[in-house]
Amino acid sequence: MANAPHGGILKDLLARDEDIHHQLKDESLILDDIILSDRQLCDLELIINGGFSPLEGFMSQRDYDSVVDTLRLADGTLFPMPVTLDVSREVVDRLSLAKDKRVTLRDPRDGQGIAILTIDNIYKPDRVREAVKVLGADDPAHPSVVYLRTRVKEFYVGGRVSAIQAPAYFDYVPFRYTPAELRAHFKKLAWRKIVAFQTRNPMHRAHRELTVRAARQHQANVLIHPVVGLTKPGDVDHYTRVRVYKAIMAKYPNGMAHLALLPLAMRMAGPREAVWHAIIRKNYGATHFIVGRDHAGPGKNSYGKDFYGPYDAQELVSKYRDELHITMVPFQQMTYLPSTDEYMPADEVPSGVPTLDISGTELRRRLKTGATIPDWFSYDAVVKTLRESYPPRLKQGFVIFLSGLYNSGYDTVARALQTVFNEQGGRSTSLLLGDLTCNNNESDHTLSREERYNHLQRVGFVASELARAGAAVIAAPFAPHEAGRQAVRKAVTLQGASGGNFFIIHVATPIEYCEKTDRRGVYAQARAGIVKGLSGVDEDFEVPKDANLTVDLTEHSIPQVVHSALLFCLLQ
Ligand code: ADP
Repeated sequence: MANAPHGGILKDLLARDEDIHHQLKDESLILDDIILSDRQLCDLELIINGGFSPLEGFMSQRDYDSVVDTLRLADGTLFPMPVTLDVSREVVDRLSLAKDKRVTLRDPRDGQGIAILTIDNIYKPDRVREAVKVLGADDPAHPSVVYLRTRVKEFYVGGRVSAIQAPAYFDYVPFRYTPAELRAHFKKLAWRKIVAFQTRNPMHRAHRELTVRAARQHQANVLIHPVVGLTKPGDVDHYTRVRVYKAIMAKYPNGMAHLALLPLAMRMAGPREAVWHAIIRKNYGATHFIVGRDHAGPGKNSYGKDFYGPYDAQELVSKYRDELHITMVPFQQMTYLPSTDEYMPADEVPSGVPTLDISGTELRRRLKTGATIPDWFSYDAVVKTLRESYPPRLKQGFVIFLSGLYNSGYDTVARALQTVFNEQGGRSTSLLLGDLTCNNNESDHTLSREERYNHLQRVGFVASELARAGAAVIAAPFAPHEAGRQAVRKAVTLQGASGGNFFIIHVATPIEYCEKTDRRGVYAQARAGIVKGLSGVDEDFEVPKDANLTVDLTEHSIPQVVHSALLFCLLQ
């Protein structure tokens, strides 16, 4: 525990003699362990570094029930968010044998022991009640409800922790501060008032104006304190965002603002989350905290309505202002006024004055098409960074997947496409022919159904990695069944932004023709029973229902097919 200049008492569990950490590390080796989930690791990091002060462990049942019902720990201290360690029944069975009720909590990435938990109690939460009380509804449109339903295990384990070490990071290390380090930094710079800005999105001009206004109003310095733990699924990845934040820092006057990263796992719980964020920022030494429009909002519910009102978060933070020890700086929606080239909160805009906004959806559309993003909205350096991570369609990689019967000509089309893309230039081209991606160069026509599915999964993985790196990938493994083709589609489209371009060309040359022109005699061998499981002979061929292009080489020439393929791949 350390009494710091800013933010009051800090439960910094890392601030102990090195000897004690070594001793705990040795002890941890002989204890049973729990491998943490990514979210639990984020939570544990903030427990041990004091970001969640006054917590000193995962919540026991009394604290959990009290927090869910009243936003307070059992002793009455304000703390609005359950911070719990969920485990499966199998783990509970193991824990009943734990020596002295102690268990090591391990980092899922490298297996390192982060803390030793002394079990206080194990309980079974009512996850529906938790969703309704904490998130406002048990509605699967809420990302944390999905998490509760699909990821959270049956039991919660409560108890105090003793810190062994902080989790190790290799990215943006200079920007990662513990609360004690950040407080010390502010002390060194003699910053007395610090207004913290929470964000999980790229920052643009509106956000810079918001923070500068807050600083002016309160004669404070600015802490840009973005979340890099877990945010809403589908958000811009933290690597891109931190590059954006670094670019934005150059837009503040020298010495005015500081960037520090917060390894928080957000719950997108709107008002409750805003109170939680305020407590966390107080622990990190901030004196003021910005709460704008729809703070930590998860978007629309299943009925198409926002989960929380746009200013509910401000109301709840304001309700607890006397206990928070950090001052909220509320803002209405910041909007751009073209007439004066400035940003203003909506409630200060004189009536009748025209305003402009670009929504998140519109921004994503412009990134996708390469359309201009105006100077009034963002900064060149920010837009450049976003465009690198989200290249326009024309620069994105893609996968063309060919399907067809054996000897239908799908591999000839694949080779022709490769030469045309090579001729065109601009991006690298990869040809994944079935026989080349198989073990020992065996033919993928002879694989069993199961082997073929596994083979297609590997092809999908490789294709998606190549497409993500911007390549034109032509994949032509033998894939007579829907399940295998869908496995490849799933691998590619899951890559999101730049790997999501997946096209199927079905080469529907009739089997009679395939058989007649089969120089290798595979069909003849199949008819004679020497080769087994050849699609079209003694195994079915499922015609793809989702082909972008269907061609028949008895009717279409290869150049015609290639031309049609180019039209839909390159001119989307
Ligand atoms: P979060 O999900 O945590 O709210 P954002 O990055 O979207 O993350 O927003 C960060 C903070 O900035 C929040 O307090 C939000 O209300 C505020 N904010 C973002 N954009 C605006 C805007 N245009 N006007 C007012 N407040 C905003």
